[in-house]
Order: sequence, then C-alpha cells, then structure tokens
Amino acid sequence: MAPKAGSARVLYWFRTDLRLHDSPALAKALALSPKAFFPVFNFDPHYAFEQAVGARRFRFLLESMQDLSDEIRKINKNSQLLVTRGDPRRRIKELCEKWEVTHVAFEEDHNDYGRTRDAEVRQALEKAGIEIVSCEGHHLYPIKEVLKKNGNKPTTSMSAYQKAISSLGDVPKPTETPKSLPDPLAPGSDKVDMKKLFQLVDDLAPLNKDPGPPEVDVNHEKHGGQRHGDVTLYDTVAEKESDPFAVPTLKSLGMDEPQDNMCKPIRGGSSVALKRLDDLCKDPSYLATFAKPQTSPSTDPDAPSTTLLSPYIKFGCLGIRYFWHKTKETKKKHKGGGVTDIPEGMEGQLLFRDMYAACEAAIGDAFHGVRGNSMAKYFDWYLPDAYDDKGNKIVPRPRGDEESEKRLAAWESGTTGFPWIDANMRMLRQCGWMHHLGRHSTAAFLTRAQCFISWERGAEVYSKYLLDWDPSSNSGNWMWLSATAFFSQFFRVYGLATFPAKYDKDGYLVRKFCPELKDVPKKYIYSPHLMSDAEQKQAKCIIGKDYPAPILDEKEEKQHCLDRMGYGYKQKLMGDAKEVMNGSAEDKFRKGHGIPHPALFEKGRQDKKIPDWAKAPPADEALDGVSKENKDEIEPHETDNHDHEDNENDETDAKDVKAEDIGAADAENGEGEGSKESAAGSKRKSKSGEGEGDSKRQKKGGKK
Ligand SMILES: Cc1cc2nc3c(=O)[nH]c(=O)nc-3n(C[C@H](O)[C@H](O)[C@H](O)COP(=O)(O)OP(=O)(O)OC[C@H]3O[C@@H](n4cnc5c(N)ncnc54)[C@H](O)[C@@H]3O)c2cc1C
Repeated sequence: MAPKAGSARVLYWFRTDLRLHDSPALAKALALSPKAFFPVFNFDPHYAFEQAVGARRFRFLLESMQDLSDEIRKINKNSQLLVTRGDPRRRIKELCEKWEVTHVAFEEDHNDYGRTRDAEVRQALEKAGIEIVSCEGHHLYPIKEVLKKNGNKPTTSMSAYQKAISSLGDVPKPTETPKSLPDPLAPGSDKVDMKKLFQLVDDLAPLNKDPGPPEVDVNHEKHGGQRHGDVTLYDTVAEKESDPFAVPTLKSLGMDEPQDNMCKPIRGGSSVALKRLDDLCKDPSYLATFAKPQTSPSTDPDAPSTTLLSPYIKFGCLGIRYFWHKTKETKKKHKGGGVTDIPEGMEGQLLFRDMYAACEAAIGDAFHGVRGNSMAKYFDWYLPDAYDDKGNKIVPRPRGDEESEKRLAAWESGTTGFPWIDANMRMLRQCGWMHHLGRHSTAAFLTRAQCFISWERGAEVYSKYLLDWDPSSNSGNWMWLSATAFFSQFFRVYGLATFPAKYDKDGYLVRKFCPELKDVPKKYIYSPHLMSDAEQKQAKCIIGKDYPAPILDEKEEKQHCLDRMGYGYKQKLMGDAKEVMNGSAEDKFRKGHGIPHPALFEKGRQDKKIPDWAKAPPADEALDGVSKENKDEIEPHETDNHDHEDNENDETDAKDVKAEDIGAADAENGEGEGSKESAAGSKRKSKSGEGEGDSKRQKKGGKK
C-alpha cells in the first residue's frame, strides 16, 4: 500500500551505486515524497575480510563515498552520507528500528555475494514489517529481463546476448539528478541533529565485539593481502566524536596509504567520473571511431588509450545508461567516417559487461570457479581451487606443486623475465589498472599459453589489485582468456615479444615499469635475455642479476599447454560433471594424457642462469611480418572480443582445427562477422586515410 504522502521515512542503502545521477532506485525512493531520508552506506565486513581487496581499491571506494557525501550536502546542507559498519543482515534492520524507518530502498545487486546478501536482508526487513523499494540500475538492461528472454540460460556469446535484448527496446533513458533531498530526521524531530541520530545507534553492538571478525582474514599480509595493521573500523557502529557518520580512513582498515610513484592516483568519485566522461566527449571522433583492437595496450593510466572509466562503473560512480546515451549523442557530432559499432565500438564494450553479468546471474555462484560451473570446460589446471569432503571451498587455499607456486608468485610480482608480462603486472600492482589487451596477454600467459595454472588463481590476483574488479566481468573474461568458456580457439596465443611489438616497438610500458630495462636496445626490449654479454653490460642490465631470466621456455611450454588443452577439449568435461564434482576428474585426465604431476617439472630448471634454450623471437622479427613459427599468434585486429566467439553448441574438436580453417569455421557459424568487418575497416582506414588520425592516436598514444 502506498504510504501517505510525506509520511515515509526512507533509508536509502548505497552499495555499488555511489552516485545521484542516473539512479532509478533513488528516483523510486524519492517518488515516495519521504518525510525523512537517510542516505546510508554500511561498511560490510565481507569486503573487509573475506573478499580480496587491496589498499588502492579501498582508497578509491573511500574517496567515492566522500564525493557522494559532498554531492548530497550540495543538494541538502543538512544531510550527508551516513556511514555505518557491521553485517548488513543485522545492521540495516537495527538502523531501521532505531530511526523508525518505514522503507528501505536500494539498487538491486544480482552479482555474486550481493545476491545472497540482498535476499537475506530483504527477508529480515520484510519480517519486521519494513517495506522494500528496489529496482535494477547497474546495467544497461535489467539482468532479470535479459535472463527471462534467454530462457534463464547464460548468454554465452555477444550474438546470443543481442538476440535476448532485441525485444527490450532501446536502453532506458537515465533518470535526472534529484534537485532536493529530504532531511535525515531523528524520530519526533523537525530539525536535523546528527549527534542525536548517532546516539540512537550508539548502543548497538559493534562487530569487533559481537560476533567478532571472521577467523580468516584474506586481506591480511599472512595470506598475501595488503593489510599490515589492526582493523579498528569495527570497534564502533559509526564514526563519532566531532563528525558522526563520517567516511572512515584507510588506516582504520589496517592498510597503509598506497604510494603513487609510477602513475598519478586514479581518484574515486562520481564528480571525477562525470568530468572524465565530459572531457572524452569534447572529442566526438574519439568515441565515434573507438575500436578496441586498435587501442594500444602499451599505455598507462596517466594517458590511457581507452576511457579508464571502468573503476567508476564498477562502484556505480558513473551511471551506465548515462554513459550509453551520452556516447550515442556525442557520436552524432562526429563529422567524418570510420564510425564503429558493436562489438569493437564503445557501445559494444558496455554490452560485453552486461553479457557477463547475465551469464553470472544464470549460473549463480558457481560462475566464479570451475567446480559446479556448467559453462566452464574442465582442464586439469595446476593450482585449482581446493574443496573439502562436503564440497566447501578451502580458504586459504592449500599450497600446490612448488614449480607452479613459484610461477604464480613470479607472475603476480612481475618477475617472470618476460618484460611485457612483468610491465603489465607491475602496473596492475602499482596503479590498479591494466589495458584490456594487457589483461589478455597476462591472463593467457598464466593459463592456457604458458603456465597452465588455473584461471581461478588469476582471477583471485586480479581481484586484489584491480580498481575495477567486478565479479562477473572478471570471472567471465578469465574464462574467455583461458578458453574455458566463450572462446574455443585455444591454439591462438599471444607472442610474449611479438604481440606487444606490433603496437609499440619502443617498449614504452616496459621502460617505465621495469626501469632496469630502460637502456635495453629496442631490438631486445621484449626479450632482453637474448642480449649478448657485451650488450647486457652496455645496457646496464645483467640478466639473472638486474632483471630475471625467463622463468620458462616460451615455446616448450606453449607446446605443453597446447597438448593439455587439446586433450581437455577432446574430453568435453564441464565443471558440473560428476567427475569434477566428486574430485576424480584430475586423476582421470592424468591417466588419459599420461603426464604425471608434478614430475613434469623435475627436469632441472635454470631459473637463475641466462637460459640458452630461451627461444622467444626478438621484437624486430615480429615487425617483418608473421613468421611461419608464430603464425598461430593473435594479430591486433583479432583481439576484439567478438572474433572467436564460441558457438553456443560448440562441439568443435579444436585440436583438429588448423589456423587456416578459422575463416571458414567462423563464416559457417556466423560469428566471425565482427572480425572481418573490423579487419576490413582498418584496411579501409589506412588506404583512404579516412579516420587515420584517430586510429593512429589510439594505437600510438593515449587519451588524457
Ligand atoms: C582477464 C580479464 C579480466 C578482466 N576483469 C575485469 C574486471 O574485473 N572489471 C572490469 O570492469 N573489466 C574487466 N575486464 C574487461 C576490460 O579489460 C576492462 O573493462 C577494461 O580494460 C577497462 O578499461 P576502460 O574503462 O578503459 O575500458 P574501455 O575500453 O574504455 O571500455 C568502456 C567500458 O566497457 C566495459 N568493458 C570493456 N571491455 C569489457 C569486457 N571485455 N568485459 C566487461 N566489460 C568491459 C567496462 O565497463 C569499461 O569501463 C577484464 C578483462 C580481462 C581480459
């Protein structure tokens, strides 16, 4: 029943929607014409202790919360973001009771942990007679609707996703930013009194006393996290003293302020996001001719070749529908040709995000691992998630074989001896972001191309460092890159020296993030281990001393991975198969392919010496064209996500497919159109010169 106008006391619960513009849930809440309005952000201990989150992402979140609080205050000087702490299953209901709240409003979260949390909070509130006002707003289309249109099955390709949304009309228009917000009035008061509001909740039990923090803190340094100090955040229910409900500090989360020596910090906040988008829109041709495969991965957050809006989208600082419609409007102002479309154009990027979210919603929590995941092909990866007899994931993960652990650690720390991988991983750690194709290269390296380590490990490491970490996009893309789902051409790999050289012969990113290589000649910038002793001396970089020797043989391991992938593809075992569920799949695979584990690595390896077996071709070889040896390597125009989409019923025995057959196979399943168009598009551009300036800028440099 609709409340009497002016009688509702609404608690608006902000989570991944840290904005006031383009917020359908906020608009719905304000349509109740509330008498009192409490804009709450509750710091959930799940993210503090159970989800891997590094200091940079926490800092970004805290800045975004402060920005939101400032925006609220601009609209109503008596109001602010009311930050509380505690398990939301309990805390939200307690706040409602203390402040006599009649309605709780929020943007729905159909993602991962958010889904279960919301169901439980909803149940608790409904039991207490509190009304819920909610709707979707984190994606272009309501994910529930998309799912329904797709028969509640995952949208395993862009074409399946596009088909599902084809009858949903255009992306809904963004809602207006509210012009006013009601006061957060304590019960019985006509005037805002923050201290009184605080006193009302001060007697609630703080989490650190009841029930206490969880036993395992995945963000603590002893589990590879970035927490060195004590968490004091949960000593109280909210910040008190002179500034009640203030945004907490990083220190109270037990984390040190990150150093920003390599890049300017990526600052959080909706106002920063809107300014960034406005700046991008000043150059309509940038958005109109945006073609993802042509954007250079050899760029950093100081001058990225892509928008760098992902962290803002992740935290909801930027409304996705606002971004979509602004892009559409801006594109109309572009006068020249070369306008790009789905999938490689800007709208395509946003649709991929939705596609992964719809898949995640269809599969559920199992989407984030192999076991139980009906979309994920099973491979006997090294270092997979471990489960106990009851099927519960063991946290922290027990150590696996030493060689793979060593490789994983080298990958995470950016010390693999492959500069392209190392520069990208160091940038991830030091700046919190990586270009999409850097993510491609590092993800393929860890999984199907070189290390054969489970994508679950890669997703976990990314989740710690990425500012834009999003459960659906992260797990979905990791499955794609490991050829576990969405993409099946596992034999197409990224050359560790040849791929980056196609974008940047000079090695900008490597010289910046691996300063020990800054004087290495261009020719060796992506394969410094091929320098002679004299060349190493001259470059002031002794391999094995100043910079690590490669941790593995690129070619040997590629072959090993191809064999293992080929074997896996033939078995056609999915993550929800009985053998995977009961834990017998690994043994079955090992018996089948005959490779013992981990004896494979006991040949005596030469990690510290310059390996004479290192066969990665120097960068300049790549510039002469694709050699016979690396004809299966991915070309820049082929990196676009759409190029090698899986057919939904893909039963291809990929081991038997030759690279030369790809064109024919794509034409047959109708999925290759995007790639042909985009390849043709780039040729057209370079021949006629049309749009060349834009494409050059995207390839060469970045967008400030
Ligand atoms: C292994 C791997 C893991 C990834 N993990 C994440 C993640 O946790 N969070 C995340 O937002 N993106 C993830 N991506 C996708 C993509 O790399 C980033 O969204 C993109 O690089 C962010 O930079 P940008 O904002 O400049 O992107 P732009 O190219 O400017 O694209 C605009 C927006 O489109 C969306 N987008 C673009 N590409 C993708 C994609 N492939 N999948 C989903 N959304 C996309 C993002 O919201 C992005 O901000 C991952 C990609 C890979 C290969």
